[in-house]
Amino acid sequence: MLNNFKIHFKSNTKIKNIDQIAEELTKIVGSDRISTDMVDKLAYGKDYWLISNLMTLKGIQPSLPEIILWPQTTAEVSEIIKLANKYKIPIIPYGEGSGVVGSALAINGGIILDMKYFDSIEINSTNMTVTVGTGLNGAVLERYLNEHGFRMGHIPQSIRTSTIGGYIANRAAGQFSVIYGKMEDIVLSMEIVLPTGEIIRSKTYPRASVGPMVDRLFLGSEGTLGVVTEAICKIWPMPEKQGKLSYLFTDLQNCLDAIRETLQARINPGVIRIYDKKETERHFGEIIKNSKGKIMLIFVFEGIERLVDLEMQITSENCEKNNGIATGEKPVDHWFETRFKVSEASEFGPYDQVMDTIEVSCMWDKSKELYDEIINSILSVPGVFLASGHASHFYTTGVCWYFTFSGIPKEGKDYITFYNAVWDATIKTSLKLGGTASHHHGIGVNRSRWMRLEHGEEFNLMQTIKKMLDPNNIMNPGKLYSEEIQEKNL
Ligand SMILES: Cc1cc2nc3c(=O)[nH]c(=O)nc-3n(C[C@H](O)[C@H](O)[C@H](O)COP(=O)(O)OP(=O)(O)OC[C@H]3O[C@@H](n4cnc5c(N)ncnc54)[C@H](O)[C@@H]3O)c2cc1C
Repeated sequence: MLNNFKIHFKSNTKIKNIDQIAEELTKIVGSDRISTDMVDKLAYGKDYWLISNLMTLKGIQPSLPEIILWPQTTAEVSEIIKLANKYKIPIIPYGEGSGVVGSALAINGGIILDMKYFDSIEINSTNMTVTVGTGLNGAVLERYLNEHGFRMGHIPQSIRTSTIGGYIANRAAGQFSVIYGKMEDIVLSMEIVLPTGEIIRSKTYPRASVGPMVDRLFLGSEGTLGVVTEAICKIWPMPEKQGKLSYLFTDLQNCLDAIRETLQARINPGVIRIYDKKETERHFGEIIKNSKGKIMLIFVFEGIERLVDLEMQITSENCEKNNGIATGEKPVDHWFETRFKVSEASEFGPYDQVMDTIEVSCMWDKSKELYDEIINSILSVPGVFLASGHASHFYTTGVCWYFTFSGIPKEGKDYITFYNAVWDATIKTSLKLGGTASHHHGIGVNRSRWMRLEHGEEFNLMQTIKKMLDPNNIMNPGKLYSEEIQEKNL
């Protein structure tokens, strides 16, 4: 059943003179912050990609790094990278391993750089910024800010098990993204260690016209262009009021129109989420009696009370105009209570059931068609028995759709063939309609086969930049730019 797993992973390249390398690294970090113990190598050889989880459940190690390091300072990171560069050893920055596409897996062996000691926090309440170490856990940061009367507002579902560095490297998106923005909107500047060991720091400004913004290259770079050690991010005051609205729709297009008209009127809810009929039944069936066969739309508003009241009034008018039926605060309260619950996917693994999620984005004029076509394309894969979707990130220009599928490979088919067939059907359909290959989970191992189709000519430029910055290909090799993985899978 599992033979096909190997198509994703090359055999680990062994560091030849590992004892000497470990000795040289010990001189940089000290003997307490280096490990070559098997227990650590096993722990850091996985992330939260479904395949990584399935392999672990089946007793197969997804990847095996050879050395784990816990640097404490940017100077140490620089020295480590210089050494890795000299000996051409792969080096993979590691946050908390919550990535869901295999981006932190050491598929070519090498050194894992666990960033958790980079945990500093410094608030500037005049500029409304926070300077933060990139190894800091997202929930720790948000709680600290809240205690001091502020909020960054980046609340991914994985907030308790992920870091600022991971958010930057993946261009992550949180539940309140409509109002507070995604990571690329939140981060103002960064300190970065390049693959040569050189340290750069971009300047912090409200806005400037001083040439290309080079540091933007590192947002979404998934550890392939350098290590981000510190970031300056925007923060906001704690909101005076939080308002909640929910509506049921019979027709998906009506629901999408209500959201689009609201956003295009420059109304900025904190949270907007819609659930298709299947997900409405799954999430709200028991608490909202008339929700069967309907589409649930929920909103959370945050800010100054007078503004929130007005935004809620205009949003309600748009929903009612588009045939929405008001269902009050109860569904929103239910969402708040359950929003960090993610037990389903891990519950099904032991029963040989494959369950995963795929997020893509598209412009408004394709939003309904893309949803319909992707659901049909997933259902057309033999063995699939569930395809559903919700949307939780919206723009004045378009939407992110988030699909969930589940199935059991038909007899004779293995997990990977089945899994890839669903992913291929989904991403092909999205790209065909002008949608993207991902919205916020990133590329990692799983999606790299789509990079050329996603980017076209731009992909050559990305490869050139990678070669220029990292001539020895030490930073997280085998990810993002790998033609090899694409050819094997297309
Ligand atoms: C249950 C669950 C819910 C999730 N919900 C969301 C969600 O709501 N929104 C969302 O966007 N994502 C979500 N994710 C995905 C995941 O949490 C994000 O991708 C997150 O950004 C990963 O952070 P991490 O610290 O765990 O990074 P890791 O998984 O450790 O690493 C991810 C990538 O970032 C690189 N990296 C890490 N730190 C650095 C650094 N300092 N410098 C350079 N590169 C670095 C790594 O090399 C790797 O390529 C979810 C995941 C799970 C399991």
